[in-house]
Amino acid sequence: DIEKDQNIIKLANNFTITGVIGGIKPFGSGHINDTYRICNADKNEPDFLLQRINHHIFKDVGALTDNILYVTNHIKNKLRLIPGADIDKQVLTLIKTGNNLFYHKDENGNYWRMYRFMQNTKSYDVVTTTRQAYQGGLAFGNFQTMLEDVDASKLTEIIPDFHNILFRLKQFEQAMSEDKFNRVKDVKPEILFINQHADGMAEIERMGKAGQLPLRVTHNDTKFNNVLLDENDVAQCVIDLDTIMPGYTAFDFGDAVRTIINRAPEDEADLEKIQLNMPLFKAFAEGFLSQTVQYMGAAEIRSLVKGVLLLPYMIGVRFLTDYLNGDVYYKVKFAGHNLQRARAQFQLVKKLEENYAELYAIVMQTVNDNKSSNGTEDL
Ligand code: ATP
Ligand code: MG
Ligand code: MG
Repeated sequence: DIEKDQNIIKLANNFTITGVIGGIKPFGSGHINDTYRICNADKNEPDFLLQRINHHIFKDVGALTDNILYVTNHIKNKLRLIPGADIDKQVLTLIKTGNNLFYHKDENGNYWRMYRFMQNTKSYDVVTTTRQAYQGGLAFGNFQTMLEDVDASKLTEIIPDFHNILFRLKQFEQAMSEDKFNRVKDVKPEILFINQHADGMAEIERMGKAGQLPLRVTHNDTKFNNVLLDENDVAQCVIDLDTIMPGYTAFDFGDAVRTIINRAPEDEADLEKIQLNMPLFKAFAEGFLSQTVQYMGAAEIRSLVKGVLLLPYMIGVRFLTDYLNGDVYYKVKFAGHNLQRARAQFQLVKKLEENYAELYAIVMQTVNDNKSSNGTEDL
């Protein structure tokens, strides 16, 4: 409605935008932040993207913004050294407010930020072709590579223990012991599955703590729709930088694969339909490793396939925890939705386990192909 539109325009005008606002549209399929496209009436000036930051999830908007600025500035400085790089296209640009800040707090206590809009791009919710999967791998791999020399301690851990499975298991045990909705009795097989796998799934965390895996700067939300592709389906830019923080490469690799390799939706009820799409996995791995293999060590490379098992396990634990807690975190469409989601993720873990040797072989083959084309030795 008109009043709401006027309000969005007013909010947009807090930022130092160039040109003249020609119109606004709700935009994208993200479900964390509210996003609007601010169209420019001046065709020589870019459009902008206005987002209301979800400050219930991201409680420290200042630190969140500092993380994004640190990372985008770092990437920009590197792109400046690359002949032919197009900085405005290859990395997000935050727009300042009139008060020289990179976010605006409105009178209702909501936080807003603005990015330069990436013209003529698209994002896909579901990957369908190996070309897309490869491009997604390139994008997330390149992103990782751009940040390879960042000291992870420069960034704030914006959601502490976000991908720490030991923490997630603790939350699960808490929910089990409280059993507020008397649901524990219905999920015995799932509890058994979680317990049988808990020790093995903690390996990345253990290796990290022991200094056997480098703590890097990771994206932590590597869904495929967080990559923008250009009109030729070529990766252009990684977006959605809210969860950037210290982490292990296996998290980004594993979460991306989780959303690419499953032939069924995340909450599939018919477990028979949960099958692996190996060609998409291979294509993603090829894209990712082509960018990252130069600096990853042997332990880190091996950790990638562990991450492929860990991430669906972790999200499954979180779904089941939420089921026991009475569905307070994830929005549910029907009773038992969180349980169904957990079952689907655990089924995916089973499938991945059955095919572990093949997943591993694909990664190693890709690594060796890259190494030999770089003139270095086999791993
Ligand atoms: P998620 O649910 O993945 O956390 P989100 O709510 O955090 O999403 P974003 O991913 O930041 O929101 O943005 C939502 C959508 O808007 C993206 O999927 C993409 O299609 C589009 N988008 C985001 N940033 C830009 C940009 N700078 N230029 C063009 N389109 C963009
Ligand atoms: Mg997103
Ligand atoms: Mg997001």
